[in-house]
Amino acid sequence: MSNENKTIHEFELNLICDFFSTTKRQGPGSPEVTLKALSFIDNLTDKSLIADIGCGTGGQTMTLAEHVKGKITGLDLFPKFIDIFNDNAEQLNIQDRVKGIVRSMDNLPFQDEELDLIWSEGAIYNIGFGRGLNEWRKFLKTGGYIAVSDVSWFTEKRPAEIDNYCMQQFPEMDTITTKVALIQKAGYIPVATFILPITCWTEHYFAPLSRAQELFLDKYAGNKIAEEFVAFQRYDAEIYHKYKEFYGYVFFIAKKIEQ
Ligand code: SAH
Repeated sequence: MSNENKTIHEFELNLICDFFSTTKRQGPGSPEVTLKALSFIDNLTDKSLIADIGCGTGGQTMTLAEHVKGKITGLDLFPKFIDIFNDNAEQLNIQDRVKGIVRSMDNLPFQDEELDLIWSEGAIYNIGFGRGLNEWRKFLKTGGYIAVSDVSWFTEKRPAEIDNYCMQQFPEMDTITTKVALIQKAGYIPVATFILPITCWTEHYFAPLSRAQELFLDKYAGNKIAEEFVAFQRYDAEIYHKYKEFYGYVFFIAKKIEQ
């Protein structure tokens, strides 16, 4: 990448980070869904060690922390998200057991077999579903759990427009059954799989995003990149409304077994 390109790229990343710093979540989901996924997980105590990978500003982490006693480490690539994450933990007065750190998901700072639970909502696609399951497994104790949400196909066939659109953004996007098979092959028992309700997109994602877009366009009035970014997001919402019976977010909960 040339320096000039790098600068443009970094500028865009900063803008995107700035935008998503104003929203509670950076992907579809809801507190109810986080708790539903958590309901499949047993054996957690105040000694449990938990990682939330690609935690963003920690919307789901704070929900988890209010229902689980153990120690939670949130990890994200973007320092600004982690600053907000740590402010949120402080406001809830749980900063002694809930900490955000800047870290890439392909270079986790944990010991082998240290974690009781790996959480990751709407982020595993950054490393790849199969790769994430395989590489993160060693950090889990046998009998420990992984709970990830990931965008998935609901059907074997779908219209070309939605197929092209999603495959461009998520080259490894696949059907639920293929992903469950990957979980099994990677050395886990697939414990539960459920589709996130549409409200996780409409109420908890697109609605706050659309309020944030107005403020963002005011703040960056005349900025082409900001305008394009908002236009892309609006298109993304349109596409979802048009094709939502073909794809959506799915939670996968699995338990590590000896292999
Ligand atoms: N879990 C949050 C955020 C999901 S958005 C939620 O559900 O609201 C995906 C997150 O993954 C973003 O916060 C992004 O910064 C983070 N991310 C992207 N690539 C990453 C990487 N290589 N390592 C760690 N985090 C990454």
